Amino acid sequence: MDLHINTKCVQAGYEPKNGEPRVLPIVQSTTFKYDSAETLGRLFDLEEDGFFYTRLTNPTLSAVAAKIAALEGGVGAMLTASGQSASLLSVINICHAGDHVVCASAVYGGTFNLFNKSLREMGISFTFVTPDASESDIKAAFQENTRAVFVESVSNPSLDVADVELYAKLAHAHGVPLIVDNTFPTPVNFRPFEWGADIVVHSTSKYMDGHAVALGGVIVDSGNFDWTNGKFPAFTEPDESYHGVVYTEKFGRAAYITKATTHLMRDYGPQQSPQNAFLLNLGLETLFLRMERHCSNALTVAKFLETSDKIEWVNYPGLESSKYYERCKKYMPNGSCGVISFGVNGGRENAMRFMNNLKLIKQVIHVADARSCALHPASTTHRQLNDEQLEQCGVTPNLIRMSVGIEYVDDILADIRQALEAL
Ligand SMILES: *Cc1c(COP(=O)(O)O)cnc(C)c1O
Repeated sequence: MDLHINTKCVQAGYEPKNGEPRVLPIVQSTTFKYDSAETLGRLFDLEEDGFFYTRLTNPTLSAVAAKIAALEGGVGAMLTASGQSASLLSVINICHAGDHVVCASAVYGGTFNLFNKSLREMGISFTFVTPDASESDIKAAFQENTRAVFVESVSNPSLDVADVELYAKLAHAHGVPLIVDNTFPTPVNFRPFEWGADIVVHSTSKYMDGHAVALGGVIVDSGNFDWTNGKFPAFTEPDESYHGVVYTEKFGRAAYITKATTHLMRDYGPQQSPQNAFLLNLGLETLFLRMERHCSNALTVAKFLETSDKIEWVNYPGLESSKYYERCKKYMPNGSCGVISFGVNGGRENAMRFMNNLKLIKQVIHVADARSCALHPASTTHRQLNDEQLEQCGVTPNLIRMSVGIEYVDDILADIRQALEAL
């Protein structure tokens, strides 16, 4: 049965048998019992499917991963402890010391540091391409040792919309996969595999959980990339730590995600807790409803701000004034996300005054949960930078980032209006 994505949000991944709990249970057990050493041996040799230790996977984790794989349209998924660990494992499942990655420069700050510092220290190199890079600029970033391309579909916090179809075409022309961080639009608004992406990662801590209660991440495998083109021996040569298994031969289209679990999760171990996966699943059940409301509220707020003489500029891909309006309509016809940014007239001082005037909308570092919140980067996350350095990284001193929640939109507007009027 081909179900609508709304229905998959509610029901995919868990199918109780007779007499089993209707609600996905939290299997709070690190370990699983078997009758014979032979059966356990076959599990260890990957000859048989089954749970044996929660660091690899467990029934709760596996059901939630299956739901997210269904939402993205992939062959399989693996939960991780955080979005950071999803990004890390998605790359090191493919790349080793001496390899190179082409990466969009408009990525989450944590991702940039992970790549530019930690993975560089491990011998993987990166070339960053700016959001306005032309096709030939992107082509020029590829090297002989390039093994992956990494972009964010809608970037946090700059809200650049990546031309995913173009990145996929260029990645494939160079025989490497495209990894897309799809955290902001979620599969409800955008499914990168339909545009040629090969691997998707998420910070599930954002809209997927949606309530700011559980840190988590996920990697999803489209099953479409051909790992046998000679560039990826880790997939096509025997893995001695599993008695010589060859991932592409044994697991076919699920080679990438199986290796991520059996090799990387085994060795590095950043597993999500069953309790967090349970909470994530509750969030996923209402993801479709929430994304609709986040997007319609954000568009209403963005349009209101555009009409205010207290506001210098507004950045939201759903606005006709956005340079991404057409691209956003092509990839995300139902909207992108609930995050907007804008500049308050009167510089840093007025931006801070505006923040302090807000009542309903709270000041927090997080984005993408049910409650509206706002942040003034120049005095918080970017406070060590002077005005000139701020301009260089696209964060003006008067920039406010607002994550528009799912409250009744007139109440959100009223709070913003009173905060502006009091300036
Ligand atoms: C938050 C975020 C991450 C990191 O996720 P954590 O769950 O905080 O580790 C990665 N990518 C994007 C786009 C994010 O917004």
